[in-house]
Amino acid sequence: MTGGGDVWAARRQRMARVRARMEELGVECLLLSLGADLPWVTGYHAMPLERLTMLVLATDADPVLVVPVLEAARVDQDGEVFSLRPWQETEDPVAIVAELIGTRRRLGISDRTWATFLLQLQARVTDARWHPASLVTAPLRAVKDAVEVQALRAASAAADRVAARLVAGEIPLVGRTEAEVSADIGRQLRAEGHDRVNFAIVGSGPNSASPHHEPGSRRIGPGEAVVCDFGGTMRGYCSDITRTVFTGHPPSELRDLYGVVQEAQEKAVAAAVVGTPCEDVDATARRIIEEGGYGPFFIHRTGHGIGLEEHEEPYLVGGNCQPLVAGHSFSIEPGIYLAGRVGARIEDIVVATDAGPEALNRVDHGLAVVEG
Ligand code: ZN
Ligand code: ZN
Ligand code: ZN
Repeated sequence: MTGGGDVWAARRQRMARVRARMEELGVECLLLSLGADLPWVTGYHAMPLERLTMLVLATDADPVLVVPVLEAARVDQDGEVFSLRPWQETEDPVAIVAELIGTRRRLGISDRTWATFLLQLQARVTDARWHPASLVTAPLRAVKDAVEVQALRAASAAADRVAARLVAGEIPLVGRTEAEVSADIGRQLRAEGHDRVNFAIVGSGPNSASPHHEPGSRRIGPGEAVVCDFGGTMRGYCSDITRTVFTGHPPSELRDLYGVVQEAQEKAVAAAVVGTPCEDVDATARRIIEEGGYGPFFIHRTGHGIGLEEHEEPYLVGGNCQPLVAGHSFSIEPGIYLAGRVGARIEDIVVATDAGPEALNRVDHGLAVVEG
């Protein structure tokens, strides 16, 4: 992601928030490598190479990105948020990072850094206290700034255009395999502007009862529930939406089940108000599903945060008493799964705002019967 002035202004602000929290926690130096923390503050995605890329971000020095010289051309530095230290093939990048760490000993390192680099750093920088970088960054990244909310809106709107065709019956289902429909959905996400498809779950008939079903060679028949849960990355930010459609008018038991999921989903979205603990949003969905008689069949949390990653903080799950704040973005995705028989799920991405929950996905939630 490269971009204009507000993107760099946002990155500078994120860097300032990171520094403030480092001071608060007593972390003197943060080492960012693979994962989403680095692009969040620099716009640069490190490739998962055997060559080390690492931003050395100390509270009391200018940040330096140590990068393989052959990758340096891909780094966009227009915002002057950090400087570059390209390393030649004959240099030892771990020694360069150790030098930049200097005498600092309270260190944070990207959760997804290769273990081999951490082990080499630990051999050089002895007596240090190591923390996962997420200790500093996760609660900050969970609160999206305006640039990020805008990117999430665009990604969700693109996913909506595909989901709208699905519920309108414009994506053929009956007679095709789940894998074919999945590939079709993926192509459409790309056509709608996604740079990458992260997943496109299609679970039909009994497979609709398996929340993370791997779409396969099963041919979709008439009179079945089909759970479609798909998402990808657009300009760095993720989409994630689920709609369940029926290839023929469902029997009353299934209509009842779907109605319970729909009510749970809508009430949970409405409950996602600033100040409400995450676990209360989960409890809202869970209570409705329990009252509907399906309590034991709602087998996962109500939602997950979303941003640069498909799953990140905050998690809407029992035990997470963290209150929602404006800028938290997350999925609301209750489901009911009768193992081996049938299941249904509805999922939207929502942003908590001071004016109330803003649902980024707008495609109709009503029972969708698609012919063919
Ligand atoms: Zn999932
Ligand atoms: Zn999903
Ligand atoms: Zn999700």
